[in-house]
Amino acid sequence: MIEINKLTKRYGQIEAVKNISFTVNEGEILGFLGPNGAGKSTTMNIITGYLPATEGSVKVDGFDILEEPEEVKKRIGFLPEQPPVYKDMTVSEYLKFVSDLKYVPKSKQKAQLDDIMELCGITDHVGRLIKNLSKGYRQRVGLAQSLIGNPDVLVLDEPTVGLDPKQIIEIRNLIKSLGKKHTIILSSHILPEVSAVCERVVIINKGEIAAVDTPENLSKGLNSASRLTATIAGPQNQVSKLINDIYGVKYNEVLGKPNKDTLTYVIESDKEIDVRRPLFFAMAKAGYPIIELRSMDMTLEDIFLKVTTVEEGVH
Ligand code: ADP
Ligand code: MG
Repeated sequence: MIEINKLTKRYGQIEAVKNISFTVNEGEILGFLGPNGAGKSTTMNIITGYLPATEGSVKVDGFDILEEPEEVKKRIGFLPEQPPVYKDMTVSEYLKFVSDLKYVPKSKQKAQLDDIMELCGITDHVGRLIKNLSKGYRQRVGLAQSLIGNPDVLVLDEPTVGLDPKQIIEIRNLIKSLGKKHTIILSSHILPEVSAVCERVVIINKGEIAAVDTPENLSKGLNSASRLTATIAGPQNQVSKLINDIYGVKYNEVLGKPNKDTLTYVIESDKEIDVRRPLFFAMAKAGYPIIELRSMDMTLEDIFLKVTTVEEGVH
């Protein structure tokens, strides 16, 4: 549905986006994840035709953004990082104004706006001035504006930034339900955000793609080993040797300083093998009590850090 091919954007000397390519499939919710300054907004502004690319192309539904911008813009609803709301208008004035801009026929405007306002939960706020709305409601109005004209594709730039946790969950659920009818690309610098909503994730760092996969595969793929921490009371050399003798254990090392008579070990093992039970029996047999045992499997946060630091090492 969206094809991004060898896209580069330079602002003077700054190369904000460096030769990136990826696609967004029809009907999917794609997460575009990266730290601040990674190039997310730049890419989204190019996809939506707000910025010209320096090199490369973007096609939406087969139409090139440079050659047929009107065709592309018709198919895209955009929620920029700063929602484009006029604060001195009421919600209904503003949404009517956007409907006119998007050439929605007058005869269809009311029915369409009623549906969109209902969907976005702003029906009770139609008469309010936008400047008097909370950030969460302004964001809903921003989302509502992106839905006008019923575009196939929604491009949402950090749609939950600045919202409180309750509002985040509400907007998330709204985006999930929009995903049933639209193809969505959503950017975020927060991992739980994309893993909660998206089926596939593109990680961008310093203008380059660092990884593309499902949240689950990202966790699996980068996780060639399984790690545990175990806090055990007993002499270090003996405990350490017993751990290493367990089938599947690759190595162990002590983490931090001893606490009374206990030490905390990081145990790395083959990811297919669960060493927790044999560890328990080995320590019980030797009379070294396990005080605490935890899995250290990588979360998406760790993967994000790993992927982005690997990139750092390259430059
Ligand atoms: P993100 O949305 O991921 O935070 P941006 O696309 O906003 O990243 O920015 C990518 C890089 O481009 C940053 O280094 C930013 O400072 C730079 N940048 C963004 N917009 C401009 C601009 N108009 N002029 C110069 N540099 C810019
Ligand atoms: Mg941004």
